[in-house]
Amino acid sequence: MGHKGFNREAAMNINITNPIFHDEAKAIAHIEATRWPNGVTCPHCGSDAVRKMGGKTQAGMFLCNDCRDKFTVRTGSVMERSHVPLHKWLLATQIMAASKKGMSAAQMGRMLGVTYKTAWFLCHRIREAMEGANPTGPLGGEGVTVEADETFVGGKAKNRAHRKPAKKKIVMALVERDGRARSFHVANVNANTLRGVLVTHIDRASTLMTDNWKGYSLLGREFASHGTVSHTTGEYAKSEKHSNTVENFFSIFKRGVIGTYHHMSEAHIHRYCAEFDLRANTRDLSDSERATEILKGGIGRRLTYRRTDKIAA
Ligand SMILES: [Zn+2]
Repeated sequence: MGHKGFNREAAMNINITNPIFHDEAKAIAHIEATRWPNGVTCPHCGSDAVRKMGGKTQAGMFLCNDCRDKFTVRTGSVMERSHVPLHKWLLATQIMAASKKGMSAAQMGRMLGVTYKTAWFLCHRIREAMEGANPTGPLGGEGVTVEADETFVGGKAKNRAHRKPAKKKIVMALVERDGRARSFHVANVNANTLRGVLVTHIDRASTLMTDNWKGYSLLGREFASHGTVSHTTGEYAKSEKHSNTVENFFSIFKRGVIGTYHHMSEAHIHRYCAEFDLRANTRDLSDSERATEILKGGIGRRLTYRRTDKIAA
């Protein structure tokens, strides 16, 4: 890590000369076209009897003729309570979409010309939109293999100001072979905890693939079949019995933790999980297409913080 804060992926595949990243009116038009491809509808009542209001003070404002309420493209989305201009929102979303290892709030703040605190809230709101863009419903199904594994993340004391060793967090991931990924923060790896995650998120007709941790042995019987891989004996990828997919997922996640985020607090770790899930789930899309999916995912979601919330990783 010779170049502190330098993130090679972030500089790639972003056409920063695109006017939507500089011109507020063009940014608004871009987000409106993404949100309402078939014409503007009122987020309060669903009516399409809406009209754009005139004048500089009401730029981007619509009036609904049915419910008589006003709205903008931010209304009812993760952007609603944010004061960051929308061209900066678009640039931040594009950067998050393009950065394989994530982007720290400090770096984001410098790139956008906003304070650390503003960048921190903005990044978490974008993660919330990423969560909205992730696929829902059970993973796997008949003939589909889902790999499940857990890993420890964070907890290095040397990066922390007060030198108190941080507790490592357990992240559990479920990854379909050649398919979708879903990760979680779990409190422990008891059979009960693992079961809660597995039966909620994996179709029982799936083939489950895990390591040989005893917590999984009884649980495996609840699925169509259960394969186990031993991490310790170097039993690699002979045939179908491997967990390479989930190991690759964790490898990227850990590079993000080590290189970018360092510490993820318990209150926010689920949003970092959503961030890494989203990039894995949209790995076949271009960075711009991924950014568009994130924008759509932010509609209908609102993230509100209490004023007392701590600004920390
Ligand atoms: Zn309305």
